[in-house]
Amino acid sequence: MPVPPSRLAAFAIALPIYRVFDYEVEAGDPLRPGTRYRLPFGSGTRTGVLLDPAPDSEVDPDKIRPAGPRLDDRPVLDEHMLALARWLAEYYLQPLGEVIFLCLPLRLHRTESPPADRVKRWRLVGEDPAAIEALARRSPRQYEICCALASGGMTAADLKALNPNWHAAVRALERRGLVAWAWDEPGTIELPAFSAPTLSAQQTGILDSLGPRLGGFGVHLLDGITGSGKTEIYLHLIRETLDAGQQVIYLVPEIGLTDQLIERVRERFGDCFELSHSGLTESRRYRAWDRFRRGERRIMLGTRSSLFAQCNNLGLIVIDEEHDSSYRQEDGVRYHARDVAIKRAQMLDIPVLLGSATPSTETLRNCARDNWYTYRLDQRPTRYPPPALQLVDLRHGRIDFGIAGAVFERIDTHLEQGGQVLIYLNRRGFAPVVMCHECGWQAVCANCDSRLTLHQSVGSLLCHHCGYADRVPEACPQCGNPEIRHYGVGTEQLEQGLVERYPQIPILRIDRDVIASREALQSRLEQLRTGDPCILIGTQMIAKGHDYPAITLSVVLDADQALFSAAYRAPERLAQTLFQVAGRAGRGDRPGEALVQSRFPGHPLLRALVERDYRDVVGDLLHEREQLGFPPYARVTMFRADAPALDAALACLQSIREILARTPGIEALTLIGPMPALMTRRIGRYRAQLCLLAPAYASLREVLARAMPEIAELSAARDTNWIVDVDAQDL
Ligand SMILES: [Zn+2]
Ligand SMILES: [Zn+2]
Repeated sequence: MPVPPSRLAAFAIALPIYRVFDYEVEAGDPLRPGTRYRLPFGSGTRTGVLLDPAPDSEVDPDKIRPAGPRLDDRPVLDEHMLALARWLAEYYLQPLGEVIFLCLPLRLHRTESPPADRVKRWRLVGEDPAAIEALARRSPRQYEICCALASGGMTAADLKALNPNWHAAVRALERRGLVAWAWDEPGTIELPAFSAPTLSAQQTGILDSLGPRLGGFGVHLLDGITGSGKTEIYLHLIRETLDAGQQVIYLVPEIGLTDQLIERVRERFGDCFELSHSGLTESRRYRAWDRFRRGERRIMLGTRSSLFAQCNNLGLIVIDEEHDSSYRQEDGVRYHARDVAIKRAQMLDIPVLLGSATPSTETLRNCARDNWYTYRLDQRPTRYPPPALQLVDLRHGRIDFGIAGAVFERIDTHLEQGGQVLIYLNRRGFAPVVMCHECGWQAVCANCDSRLTLHQSVGSLLCHHCGYADRVPEACPQCGNPEIRHYGVGTEQLEQGLVERYPQIPILRIDRDVIASREALQSRLEQLRTGDPCILIGTQMIAKGHDYPAITLSVVLDADQALFSAAYRAPERLAQTLFQVAGRAGRGDRPGEALVQSRFPGHPLLRALVERDYRDVVGDLLHEREQLGFPPYARVTMFRADAPALDAALACLQSIREILARTPGIEALTLIGPMPALMTRRIGRYRAQLCLLAPAYASLREVLARAMPEIAELSAARDTNWIVDVDAQDL
């Protein structure tokens, strides 16, 4: 018997394949898109989100299985989120099923109903004082509960605190009609009164010009030097949005060092906000998502994926440090949170505010091309401007554990004057190279094309790509030479050296090896906050937007790696890192100083960074990219494949290339590859890439729209995976 089409529905399932799945749904089901169901799948079950209540099914009706129970009373994704997911899937060429689930907290990926974030509260009913008084003698326990309830409703926890045996008494009171329970209504939290700090003339000017433009969609770039008070402008605009009864999403690159920000937000907005980041448990993230969705919380403050927070009346999206590469998701569904945010704002006709001291080349180009609004904030409200970068030549003089003698002199001076020192070294471990100087043997990973890093604290050689660990050999495995040497300096060695040299000064190291918990990080930040002299050393984590006014000296130990990197974005990233690290210094009442060590002090990029400002340098980089036809003047789509053998990975991409090559419109694009990836072997798999370079988005779009259905059908050899990366960050 054929299935009536009205009872079929198409579902998204979180699988890396380009299709949706049809199931039969019980008659009478409201079939609301965005609702989750438990679906039989293979021999198990999966969670599916209903997408389309009337699909054009091409599946043989006899093969369609009945859907399992509906898991939600109402949709967990509203129409807008479904539309955004469809756009993301189409733009980034990602499987819709995976994108739909990207928009949901992990808790809702399970095949079960979500936990209720509501509590029962008991209250007095019936207004019968005489009946209550009558209990005083007959049932003192019930009387006591009534007296407590007279001053307000109580939860089970409150009642238990009053009397561990409350249950029977309350049930008796319910039978008497004196007490009844109800679900707690979502509490609306009032915004606390707060008198905002006085703004500088520049800040006021920016707010004045922003104000009238916030009525609808627009992209606003707040281009403000480090320490210029961008956050204050965000907070002002957030307040205005909340006062208008709307909600706000506020994205930051990393939550680790943002405690000061969280404090400021709490001070301003009380408990009106939720936090969401990967450090939270699944249930806390779900609760944050759910409260924001119900409008119980007005601000969602969090990292990349908080962009997918759902609510009824979003009024503003703020993206702090818009240039930060952590906004780009590089595994699973590949997307850029900044670009998706802009699309979301456009769909909702609301403003989006980007902020950075070092805006990305994409954003600067878009500002010029699409007439985005730009606001310059080039003064610090404190006395001192960000320090200019100064180069320290590493070719002459003594160097101890990576630090030049001249730099030690400056460290000593700053510590003596009561300042704090920040040393940036983007390399974990003790030493990055372990080798035999007799025969040239190097410690390399068994699974990757990568060197092993010496981690002395654990006595191992570790691969930073796959986690492979090896013992430090007693003698060279190749020639037997007993003298194995290590070269280069990582944060572990730097810390050890500084502890020996400055026994009286706290050395605070922040990197992934030592910051296992939030507490470990907090204890270090506490010390920074005291303002007492100390040395902070760390990797990327410490270069991001934090504000410790006692830091007066910033040192970048090694700028040279980036100078000769094959990645075309390396100069832009180096410029951002150097200006960001320098910008950590001199934010208080003492001037800052910023030093950059290099063996190539004459390198034109370094010279430019020292002599000119960020905007000038990036202006030149943009000019270069335009000449070369690189992003942002071109669009890059990368197909990547990995397999147990390089040939299989290349063959898979060759098939994709052939499909693309016969697609109309391909003449206008450039196909590069397939070729082995820069790091060909990683975690035991060989990797290759095929690059599609287009001068304009439209031409790329057309070709991919035509070719993707066929590519998606491509049955790759067993154990070969391929993915597509739209707007890839590398070439
Ligand atoms: Zn050897
Ligand atoms: Zn490895």
